[in-house]
Amino acid sequence: MVVSKAISIKTSGHTDIIDITADVQENLIKAKLKNGIVNVSVPGSTAGITTAEFEPGQIADLKKLFQDLIPEDTHYKHDDTWGDANGYAHLRSALIGTSKSFPFIDAKLSLGTWQQIVLIDFDNRPRLRKIILQFIGG
Ligand code: ZN
Repeated sequence: MVVSKAISIKTSGHTDIIDITADVQENLIKAKLKNGIVNVSVPGSTAGITTAEFEPGQIADLKKLFQDLIPEDTHYKHDDTWGDANGYAHLRSALIGTSKSFPFIDAKLSLGTWQQIVLIDFDNRPRLRKIILQFIGG
């Protein structure tokens, strides 16, 4: 059985990292499935889905990692195409991906104690992001 849900998240952009674990768990309860997997997906090419230990130190480290690997203040060829100056955001999104799947058992997400599901919005402006949750199981 497949149950599709969606959540909306307001972001401030610029590598805004938001813990969405409680939203996913809440929708898992509403989906009324016991065992299976959930695919968490953000439609768009300037955001990403990954996991983190959601505490200030790791969030700061993650932001530094992205800035070190793919600086926001560098010129990219994509910036010439539309003039939207978010070439860095597309590259960061391509690197971490826009969806991930997680198992659930007895209607509870099977995550580590210190592991949260996070949405990262890399774009260079605030956005209203829609997250698609597809629960597959029974
Ligand atoms: Zn762009």
